[in-house]
Amino acid sequence: MLTFLGRGSAFADEHNSAFFIENGNLILIDCPMSSFEKLNDMNLTLFDHIYLLVTHTHGDHISGIGMLVDLLQFSVKTPITIVAPSKEVEGDLFYFLSRLEGCNEAWYELINTEELDADWFVCPIQTTHTEELAGKCFGYCLTVEGSRVVYTGDSNTLVPYEKYISDGAYLYTEVSAYKSPVHLYCVDIHDKIKAYVERGVHVYLMHMDDEKRIGEVLGDTGAEFAPLEKRAFMVQDTARLLDGIFTISDSLYKDTCMNNNPDHHLLFSYLTELGKTIVDADRASFWKWDKRKKQIWTMSATGVDKIVIPDDSGLVGKALRNKVTVITNDPYNDPDFNNEIDIQTGYKTNSVLVLPVADVNGDFIGALQLINKNDENGFDEDEDPKRLSLAALVCGIALESETFLEDSHHDRLTGLKNRMGFYYDFAKRFKEYLIPGAGKTMSVFICDIDKFKTVNDTYGHSAGDDVLKFTSNLLESFCGETDSAYRWGGEEFVMVMRDTDLEGAVNKAEQIRVKLMESDIEADGNTIRCTLSFGCSFFDPSKSIEENISRADGKLYTAKETGRNKVCWQ
Ligand code: GH3
Ligand code: MG
Ligand code: MG
Repeated sequence: MLTFLGRGSAFADEHNSAFFIENGNLILIDCPMSSFEKLNDMNLTLFDHIYLLVTHTHGDHISGIGMLVDLLQFSVKTPITIVAPSKEVEGDLFYFLSRLEGCNEAWYELINTEELDADWFVCPIQTTHTEELAGKCFGYCLTVEGSRVVYTGDSNTLVPYEKYISDGAYLYTEVSAYKSPVHLYCVDIHDKIKAYVERGVHVYLMHMDDEKRIGEVLGDTGAEFAPLEKRAFMVQDTARLLDGIFTISDSLYKDTCMNNNPDHHLLFSYLTELGKTIVDADRASFWKWDKRKKQIWTMSATGVDKIVIPDDSGLVGKALRNKVTVITNDPYNDPDFNNEIDIQTGYKTNSVLVLPVADVNGDFIGALQLINKNDENGFDEDEDPKRLSLAALVCGIALESETFLEDSHHDRLTGLKNRMGFYYDFAKRFKEYLIPGAGKTMSVFICDIDKFKTVNDTYGHSAGDDVLKFTSNLLESFCGETDSAYRWGGEEFVMVMRDTDLEGAVNKAEQIRVKLMESDIEADGNTIRCTLSFGCSFFDPSKSIEENISRADGKLYTAKETGRNKVCWQ
């Protein structure tokens, strides 16, 4: 029978309007703006013709017509006939539509019911509603799928409809929870509704201001709420979903596979976006589990900033610890949900899904988190994890390969980045410092532990390793936001200092030199003292990276030649 695009009254989110499909034609009853928005999501090209039956000219029943006419004219190209219930209403509608810019008369046909010739149409039914609409407010009697349908529109009485409500008919009646002179108060019509149902009339309630209260009052009558049918949008939903998936896959391919220098963060952000699209959620994030640091952090997030949290906290922590998918559709009552972000930002979380992500060995290494599914029932335990499975699988593989890449850029002994990490940083992070004339300032130093071979020879290799670790930590502790330290090889280290001139670099080197010189290093049961020699130079972007390092290295050689434990500069 009728399917409702909305069944609410004037101040509800969704205004009342309904439709049915007959012989390839779409027949709409009223078109408020909220219904237009849903129609815009439907595949209207499926229909040969659209008929729009207007009940009355209140804004919450006709405000979407202009937009619908535009949509049909410019995009869908399906003809529309707007049907007024009487000549007088036709005149009002003409006045209204002809004064809307961008709603040209040639783009629609406006008729009244006397001119309408359709099998499904029986007659308009005049009724009473607000005072200013006296004589201009109507419901309809129709034949849908061979059955009698009576649709009241807005009305403060059932009387004009009574003679059309035959046994077995479908009655769609407005009803209100609050008493007013312009609507049908639920308490007042209770007995009448009950009697209709007992007579075999199918009664559906619509144009409701408070469904809960109406449900309570009319619950025993056998009447039902008018059906909000989701299936109607499936065609378009699927098309839109596929479109969304294609757009993301296409960008993913172009930005990663066709790019010689794949960027995993881009990959994660696309996969996160893909997850969000597939389950139709408001926010999505992808989390990496750092088991060494006992932390989980966001690799990519839509709608939220990067977050680092301990791995024994929150819903993501719970999913990873217990190796299970976690769904909560009532997060504020879930003890594992951390509502701090909502408190800070005012965001309201209604539903959360966390899907743990495994590497090829089946060990969990991260998690996809989706927030606020666009569905009043929240996430579905069966469906949504299935929908996300492919994105989760690819995330797992990407995370694993990213971890390999990260590992290959780091030195295992000291944890500092190695030479590969050094070149990767120049290719990815310091690019703009390599452009001659761009006005960027950068300096470097290279340093080398003095007489380190003696440490190994005297205290053993393990002690030597401890000295290397100590020196690395010291260098790292002197790294500001724009500095990066690398293990260049053996007992040699490089520091790159962006936005730092030669003087700044020399000062930093000098501080490090003094600090190490004065440090007692606990090395494999021994207390050792060491010194460092430094060669500093200003980074010249017109020269290659190697030439720049070699200039600094030249100065390091000078430092070694002239007594060690000193800083020399170009
Ligand atoms: P100089 O003051 O001229 O730099 O003298 P040096 O002894 O520090 O220089 P040399 O190049 O002769 O010796 C460096 C030593 O560092 C030799 C090598 O075995 C040692 N080495 C390199 N990598 C490691 C490492 O990872 N662990 C340890 N324990 N030793 C290392
Ligand atoms: Mg040395
Ligand atoms: Mg050396």
